[in-house]
Amino acid sequence: MRYAETGFNLEVDLTRGNIERVATDPRDTELYLGGLGTNAKMLWDRVPPEVEPFSPENLLIFSSGLLCGTPATGCNRTIVSTISPQTQLMAFSMMGGFWAPELKYAGYDKVIFRGKSPDLVYLWINNDKVELRDASHLRGKGSGETAELIRKELKEPKAQIASIGLAGESRVFFASIEQGRSSASRGGIGAVMGDKGLKAIAVRGTKDINVARPAEFMELCKEVLSYIKFRNENPVEGVMAILTGLGSPQEMAVHDEKWHTENFMWGNSRIRRKDFWNQEIAAKWMETLETMRTRLISCYNCPMKCGATISPPGLPTYMMKCFSKLTYTMAAMSDLDFGLRIAQNATEYGVDGFSAPQVMAFALELLEAGILTENDMPGLPPDNEGRFHWLLDRIVRREGIGDVLANGTYWAAKQIGNGAEAFAHNTIKKHEQLPLKLSMLNPIYFLMYSTGEKINITQIEGQFPQAPFATRAEREAFVKDWFQVPDDKFKQYFLDWEPRGEKSMPFYPTVQMCCDIVDWQERMHYIDDALGMCAGLSSFPLKPPYHIHNYPKFISAGAGFAMDEAKLTQATQRYRTLVRAINIRRGMRRKDDKPPENHWKKRFPELEKELLDTYYRFKGWNNDGIPTKESLHDLGLDYVADDFIKRRILKDGDDGPANG
Ligand code: SF4
Repeated sequence: MRYAETGFNLEVDLTRGNIERVATDPRDTELYLGGLGTNAKMLWDRVPPEVEPFSPENLLIFSSGLLCGTPATGCNRTIVSTISPQTQLMAFSMMGGFWAPELKYAGYDKVIFRGKSPDLVYLWINNDKVELRDASHLRGKGSGETAELIRKELKEPKAQIASIGLAGESRVFFASIEQGRSSASRGGIGAVMGDKGLKAIAVRGTKDINVARPAEFMELCKEVLSYIKFRNENPVEGVMAILTGLGSPQEMAVHDEKWHTENFMWGNSRIRRKDFWNQEIAAKWMETLETMRTRLISCYNCPMKCGATISPPGLPTYMMKCFSKLTYTMAAMSDLDFGLRIAQNATEYGVDGFSAPQVMAFALELLEAGILTENDMPGLPPDNEGRFHWLLDRIVRREGIGDVLANGTYWAAKQIGNGAEAFAHNTIKKHEQLPLKLSMLNPIYFLMYSTGEKINITQIEGQFPQAPFATRAEREAFVKDWFQVPDDKFKQYFLDWEPRGEKSMPFYPTVQMCCDIVDWQERMHYIDDALGMCAGLSSFPLKPPYHIHNYPKFISAGAGFAMDEAKLTQATQRYRTLVRAINIRRGMRRKDDKPPENHWKKRFPELEKELLDTYYRFKGWNNDGIPTKESLHDLGLDYVADDFIKRRILKDGDDGPANG
């Protein structure tokens, strides 16, 4: 008997239209857990580095996390993994909502797509009955519209549907996969779905999931729920409003946007509007949100309400996750009314809410700089908001200049040339980042931005406060009930962290402390992504209900195999290293591990070098960021070392790069 997981995957060959139900190896679950972990193993085994993102041999994997479908609160993530057209590296994007638990209840842990369908199709998973169906009538339809049409067609209002919009069909490099309440957006995974000729996956499941030790498991769930209640009644003091509670950033609930609008850069991340937020703006934005936000909504089995239904007058209602509330607004230097309207359009088209606005602002900057001209944009409206809509329409159709911009700022700048590259300044590993430009180097964030392969910083950070608190008394109060720390040394790190003076950034936390902190933060995110847990209840907020001390108990009682903190840490290191190995095999090296040049004004090259050198050693990577033979051996990844040696990525006998 398999517990927590079903023990079966669906393998779908889109070229031949073949569907198989395949039993999985339980040993893989113990070694790589599930979700991201087993996705990484599959991509390593089956997608060699010669495979291009738009090759039929690229896999597109939709995976539930190991604990999805169990009563574990907030465990609902679908982890979608493939090779990204934008970064050319492994993309793993997560979506919340309801899809992953429904897949489990239908009897499957993952759906793995290979090949390409000659015609546009969608997959209908109805418990044991699984079929590919014609989707030609859905061509060009919006993501939400597609979901509604499929539900009607199947006469199954309870089907959960992940779909792409026009952007995915057009293979826009930042196309998302939308799923009503949620979306998997980063890395252009929607483009891979479109390239495979797959418009949607509908799923309906009515089976049960077994839990190994139900009474113990339910007790753990109860503890989590009562802690959530406690935290809701006792928000963390001393941090910005958005970080005081639990869940995804509470963008749908909050009205005070002073911090984001004045600290994040606007336009193509160059202009900070320090005096933007005033009473008049606050009142106007509050009125817009109150008028358009019709309901706050949750994901499967979660008491939080991080999303909302938005009904802009004259436009269809849509569901908004969190941060796209601000990204369009800020890129266009416009107001919330515009932001909520264009986001409706963008959600239906299916584009990433971080990348899309930056790409459009980038195009308009190039126009202002004379690098692009009116001839490149015939018919461009004169007003800023009109221009954003005009650009979005062309990007998702890959029409004219939209065809170039659809590749994201990094690739578009290369194609446009003539100095355009200087305007594509906000990417890491060829991918648009948060529009942040700050002053003093933050050594913790330096390491996270540089080495994070998850690309999105909000999916890397968490657990440790982003900045020191002003007084020691405040810090003492903070650490008092901080039981989530894996080791008490983290409390001391924080206690001694001063806003100014000797123990302040960039030289404090020390290099070694930064390594510990980054490793802890990363570990928690990677655990979430294997279990299917929402980062909003675990790795993202301060003092979350899920942590390194109760996770092993959840896994043991849920999946039924022995787990403790050390074993969980090692399993996480194993598949985290495997993600890196996939990317190393695809050419990623130390040169790629860096934040945008102008992310901080005050840079410290020697310190940054020491941070990277030390962190690489700490992680068991050589000086070029390649996992060493010894560390691979310790993690049971000898097969990776053998492959590296065969490909001359590592030399046999030592850990230097074969050619460097
Ligand atoms: S915390 Fe928010 S984003 Fe996370 S599962 Fe709950 S409702 Fe969804």
